[in-house]
Amino acid sequence: MRGLHNELTDRYKVLKILGKGSFGVVRLVKEKTSNGFTNQLLPYKKPVYAMKVIRKSAMLRTSQEGHLRAERDFLVSSEGSRWIVPLIASFQDPANLYLIMEYMPGGDFLGLLIRENILNEPVAKFFIAEMILCIEEAHSLRWIHRDIKPDNFLVSATGHLKISDFGLAFDGHWSHDTSYYHTHRYSLVHKLGLTIEGNAVDRSEGFQGTLK
Ligand code: ATP
Repeated sequence: MRGLHNELTDRYKVLKILGKGSFGVVRLVKEKTSNGFTNQLLPYKKPVYAMKVIRKSAMLRTSQEGHLRAERDFLVSSEGSRWIVPLIASFQDPANLYLIMEYMPGGDFLGLLIRENILNEPVAKFFIAEMILCIEEAHSLRWIHRDIKPDNFLVSATGHLKISDFGLAFDGHWSHDTSYYHTHRYSLVHKLGLTIEGNAVDRSEGFQGTLK
């Protein structure tokens, strides 16, 4: 991931919030033209994207570094797949990580189910078949998703499903294993003789700083 602090404000204008996840927000963004403004006359010239913003502090506090690494690595390895929501770019600033993904205008499949309430049989068969193809695609890339649910399938502009949210996915690699980060963190804390006091929230909740 590139460490370009102002890349977000330099390149993307935020249009609206698309959804909220456990570790941050997904926003609809538009790429700015070279003069720094969004192109009002030729809006189709600059596409819109979904930008997932992940708070580093929230990730670290809940020991999710491995999951985040896994999500980013999976999206990179699935480049060109028609069944996985494409990653366009990723970058970071001191507070957040940013994943720029293809915008899926149909929203998530849970929203479609809520809107439609009942799908007729041919439509249900179509979406079930596409879900199987999405999961099969992840498996053929040697990953297991581990969080299959309606809200993790997104509907493309052409009405097809793509699978997203690989925050819990795993491919057996040590750098995606949460326990690796626990071991690393705990041995470092022990070696340096550090006492973990936690922040104001931790202290108010009576966090004792014991590491087991
Ligand atoms: P979770 O709590 O399920 O782990 P998360 O933090 O991983 O959530 P996502 O599930 O990736 O976040 O995104 C949250 C919501 O944002 C989705 O349910 C969807 O409505 C919207 N969203 C995510 N990616 C896109 C996209 N590429 N295009 C359109 N909407 C999107």
